Amino acid sequence: MVAIVWFRNDLRLADQPALAAAASSGPVLPVFVDDRQSPGVRAEGAAARWWRVRSLAALDADLARRGGRLLVLKGPAAPVLRALVQRVGATAIHATAQPEPWWGPIEAELGPSLVRHPGSWLHPPGAVVTAAGAPFRVFTPFARAHEGLGPPPRPRPAPARIAFAPPPEPAPPLPRFNPRWARGFAEAGWTPGEEGARRRLAEFLPRAAAYGRRRDFPAEPATSRLSPHLHFGEISAAAVWHAVVDAIGAQTAQPFTRQLIWRDFARELIRQHPDSAERPHRPAFARMAWTDVATEPGRSWLAAWRQGRTGYPLVDAGMRELWQTGWMHNRVRMVVGSFLVKHLGIDWREGERWFWDTLLDADLPNNAMGWQWVTGSGVDGQPFHRIFSPVLQAERFDALAYIRRFAPEYDGVAPVRPIVDHAEARARALARLAALREDAAP
Ligand SMILES: Cc1cc2nc3c(=O)[nH]c(=O)nc-3n(C[C@H](O)[C@H](O)[C@H](O)COP(=O)(O)OP(=O)(O)OC[C@H]3O[C@@H](n4cnc5c(N)ncnc54)[C@H](O)[C@@H]3O)c2cc1C
Repeated sequence: MVAIVWFRNDLRLADQPALAAAASSGPVLPVFVDDRQSPGVRAEGAAARWWRVRSLAALDADLARRGGRLLVLKGPAAPVLRALVQRVGATAIHATAQPEPWWGPIEAELGPSLVRHPGSWLHPPGAVVTAAGAPFRVFTPFARAHEGLGPPPRPRPAPARIAFAPPPEPAPPLPRFNPRWARGFAEAGWTPGEEGARRRLAEFLPRAAAYGRRRDFPAEPATSRLSPHLHFGEISAAAVWHAVVDAIGAQTAQPFTRQLIWRDFARELIRQHPDSAERPHRPAFARMAWTDVATEPGRSWLAAWRQGRTGYPLVDAGMRELWQTGWMHNRVRMVVGSFLVKHLGIDWREGERWFWDTLLDADLPNNAMGWQWVTGSGVDGQPFHRIFSPVLQAERFDALAYIRRFAPEYDGVAPVRPIVDHAEARARALARLAALREDAAP
């Protein structure tokens, strides 16, 4: 009997428990549903869409080499899959658990024919809890408990043999998406798909031992750049974990494996707060008097931030790296995020949405957590009163070569015709915070 494998952000053949389970039970029908209609689904941003269509094509090619095809269907996932089950007489739909909150109701509609597998987290969702069985709200104890569970399961290779069920209809052509602005993505060396993910990991391994010391220096290729591959599940987090630990040992790997634990933490946070991309975890922040972006100067400030024209070299270099390559270094994400929210006083949700549209690795849990972290509105993050100076950050992390690469009109780290003065902006941000506190006083 046919088993459907419902691919989502797990676009790989290796260490893919849903595929492994289906392949061991009989003929397999691999399916992706392009769902922009189910209630609550947040449409993918343009950069992620660019990646998605290429990743689907890569998965289709990998399946074709083994004699199968990826069936890409359009529409609300639950009715589309139920109809497919009927048409092919499938016994089950196998899928790996995913963190986005909109999947819950869709999965409930599929009922018992859906078999959910772990595989996208290092440890299964809900496995890392306090001694009392409650979820953690703060990262450090979460990470300690996570590490206490030991390493994630060793990754399993792709099934040696997969018998494919014939698709019920000729497969419609795969979607295409080639916006002009995205030409820089391919030039930046991104290769969506499982093979591209494996190559990126192999390139990182010789540099992994220096990660802990160099990861904050944006001019250096010190981080893995695996984030889009991990978001789309072209490689499992467990496979990355074990490859790095095997290469350099658990202790040297710890600064890196900690980041994969941050990824699990973001997934746990979104389970606790499904509206993390819209609602601050600290309720007081909902009353913050943000700069109005429908009128001046807010409108121009937001545009200048998006386009990398703020007059602060590190901020502008970061925003242009994002626009040109679809990715931005983590240290610079923190600096540009802090600048938007604190120097410009603009609501973090504007930043969250811009990143959502322009990042190749746009990931609901990581992006929401990142923005709440820089704002200080999260359960665990940088307090609002700690305001990064883009100049000191650029000096501290030797960002000049990075600035020259992405914003070559600057030839130093000091601001040139800045849209806001640092000291004034800082004073405004602190006043905004003080007003919020007064407002909260009884
Ligand atoms: C405002 C803001 C927004 C962000 N938005 C996203 C986003 O949409 N998608 C995204 O994947 N990451 C996001 N991050 C987290 C982080 O910046 C990126 O994961 C990282 O820069 C990706 O580069 P890398 O693959 O070289 O990371 P590495 O340093 O090599 O880390 C390896 C992997 O660990 C995970 N990871 C690393 N740092 C974090 C973190 N702080 N939180 C959660 N997971 C992490 C990622 O999956 C990453 O690929 C955001 C951070 C901030 C401050």
